[in-house]
Amino acid sequence: MIIPVIEYLNNSNDPDGFLKYLESAFQFFGLDVNLFTLCVVLWFMIFLRFSATFIMSVRTAQVKHYVGRALATSCFENIITANGAYTGSIGAGTFVNLLDHQCQATASLVSSYVTVFTIILTAFAYVAVTVFAAPLTSLAAFIMLGAAVFLSQKFIKRSRAIGSDLVKFRDGYIHYIGERYRAWRQIKLSNTVAQEVVEISRTSGRFARMSVALVAQSSRIPLFMGVGLSSLMLLGLFLAGSYLDLKTSTIPLFLIVMVRLLPTAQGMATQRNAIAIYDESLKRVALAMQEARENKEAESGGHNFVSLKNAITFAGVTLKYPFGENAALKGINLSIPAGKITAIIGPSGAGKSTLVDLLPRLIVPSGGRIMFDDLPHADIDLISLRAGISFASQEVVLLTATVAENIAYGQINPSRIEIEAAAQMAGADNFIRDLPRGYDTVIGDSERQLSGGQRQRLGLARAILKSAPIMILDEPTSALDIETEQAIMLAIRELPKRKNTTIILIAHRLSTVAKADKLVVLRDGQVVQEGAPSELKAQPGWYGDMLRISGDSLSQGFIDQ
Ligand code: ADP
Ligand code: MG
Repeated sequence: MIIPVIEYLNNSNDPDGFLKYLESAFQFFGLDVNLFTLCVVLWFMIFLRFSATFIMSVRTAQVKHYVGRALATSCFENIITANGAYTGSIGAGTFVNLLDHQCQATASLVSSYVTVFTIILTAFAYVAVTVFAAPLTSLAAFIMLGAAVFLSQKFIKRSRAIGSDLVKFRDGYIHYIGERYRAWRQIKLSNTVAQEVVEISRTSGRFARMSVALVAQSSRIPLFMGVGLSSLMLLGLFLAGSYLDLKTSTIPLFLIVMVRLLPTAQGMATQRNAIAIYDESLKRVALAMQEARENKEAESGGHNFVSLKNAITFAGVTLKYPFGENAALKGINLSIPAGKITAIIGPSGAGKSTLVDLLPRLIVPSGGRIMFDDLPHADIDLISLRAGISFASQEVVLLTATVAENIAYGQINPSRIEIEAAAQMAGADNFIRDLPRGYDTVIGDSERQLSGGQRQRLGLARAILKSAPIMILDEPTSALDIETEQAIMLAIRELPKRKNTTIILIAHRLSTVAKADKLVVLRDGQVVQEGAPSELKAQPGWYGDMLRISGDSLSQGFIDQ
């Protein structure tokens, strides 16, 4: 932009080609060419240029982050609406990496493409000026620059390979560091602090080396282009000056344009390199979304679940986990009566949790049929199905929120009275009141540590508050002392009578299940015994054996209560 002013100062008395064109352009707008108008126009152009750059930076960032947000949202939605077996198989590391880094990196493609677009526009402008100033030399220059951009392909290919490795490595790396945090207690207890420090240094060292390798690879492009092209440029200039039509007045113009074009060409190659790297993140995100969509859970069969009248029946239900060796459930035939307490017992790993996870369709059977009265389970609308089931899982997950909010999670505006009543029934009210701010104390998975038994009671309170027609309790009192357990079970046993709730209770402690209406013994993915506790007690089998092992200890006492 400064060139016309310098030209004007040099040759204002004897305008040559370029200034003449400028004069006619100025005349078009009714302006004279003089130092003042030149400076004003120059100022205006500079103002326009920097304003445009500013607007472009802000806009590009907006679009980029909008894309990142849309991607992360869509990724989250797809993974969370896939069937549980798939969602559970992804792993926290991959999940965090996908939603955070990989979505952001993919969104960076937006800025890279915008930059490429501006580079192409700028290049066109420069080309127009240079072709006009010195056609032959510029032709030589363009061939040079084009060849350099083309040759940078080799570097880009290598960057892409490192980028791809890094994408894969990052999943494992984030998983690894998350796991070390969760294992802090084990690390201290096992006296493995020193080993773990060495190990984390080794693993993060590998990550660092790969990241540096990627930067080094990307930086080779400007190095190659800067040195290579400057050499060619000087050679070209020398040849042009000696043998071609390069006029003295065009030499500074040509030089300036070349000096501006070189970063443009470099920028082009650098952006193509960046695009190649981000592209690996794009592939990763696209693959995860595609897999999640292929595993999407069936949402509806059009029937709404309202309440259970007769029974839930299982007919030949089998389940095999995607990464499991053997089937976890092997042909389950079972009837769970409505408005009663059915207890599922059996050794650990028998498939108890798997069996109840089927009911809210967290997982779907590999074979067989489940019926809710006369409604095929698969035909029930998913939202109504889950609304109809209160579920206290074996592992209670608490979110960073107040105790009251944790209990009320998923409920629409429950009153404080309802929340406290549920907590009371779950035997949680006392310890909650002892917390610094009672029900308004902020808890969370790491913020404030609650004991296993306290967490369990909050999970139970959640299920009780929901108060759905079907209540599933997966080992709800396993971490509690028998006294507390008995008090809670007494309250829960009232639910079928009061609200006609169908309760499915999983327990390994016989005292928990003694008062159930029906016992189901599961072993190795099969139902081996089924009936009223008093019937099973007399039969040979797992239940009787367990009763005998516990002998006349506590559990016997409670059963006979
Ligand atoms: P239980 O609740 O009776 O202790 P589970 O239903 O949790 O038993 O597990 C039954 C079997 O299925 C076990 O052998 C367990 O290893 C396996 N299993 C559970 N969850 C998964 C999973 N997500 N992937 C593969 N196998 C699993
Ligand atoms: Mg279990």
